Amino acid sequence: MKNINKHISSTLKALRRERGWSLDRTAEETGVSKAMLGQIEREESSPTIATLWKIASGFHTSFSSFIEDIHRDFDKPVYRSGKTRNLHPSDKNIRVMPLFPYDEQLNMEIFVIELLPGCEHLSPPHKPGVIEHVVVTEGKMEILVNGKWLLLSKGEGLRFNANQPHGYRNTTAEISCFHDIIHYPRSGA
Ligand code: MN
Repeated sequence: MKNINKHISSTLKALRRERGWSLDRTAEETGVSKAMLGQIEREESSPTIATLWKIASGFHTSFSSFIEDIHRDFDKPVYRSGKTRNLHPSDKNIRVMPLFPYDEQLNMEIFVIELLPGCEHLSPPHKPGVIEHVVVTEGKMEILVNGKWLLLSKGEGLRFNANQPHGYRNTTAEISCFHDIIHYPRSGA
């Protein structure tokens, strides 16, 4: 997980190869410009979280597989711990860590996400069938869903269909932290 840009680049290249998609086709499917895709593949640019989500959605694949390898060893218990990190210089108010990266058997991934005071992060719609469960573990935060911001406090959760524009924000003066459990449809990843 040290060099995220390298992992993103090789994942993108592998997906394109697998699908036989040109940069033009990939730009069409993801809504991310051909120039930007080229820069990401050459590790000249690190995508924002929003851009990375567009790419993942365009390929019908999971977000965390761009940050870490897909989990395929189901026999042993998996202990995980780690620090959240900024994925992109312009995403400095939001820190993300895949607590459990994409699990092929369960079609899900679990993130720890921290929102610094004042952070507002809007997410493009994910593919139909993608469900998010947000559970607040620290502080207070708001989630934009069905066009309304809903306030959640520590210990509270919200499940929603993520195939719509949605968002996360922290209007308090303290950091807020939540788990985001993202479930993909069977064909999804
Ligand atoms: Mn989302």
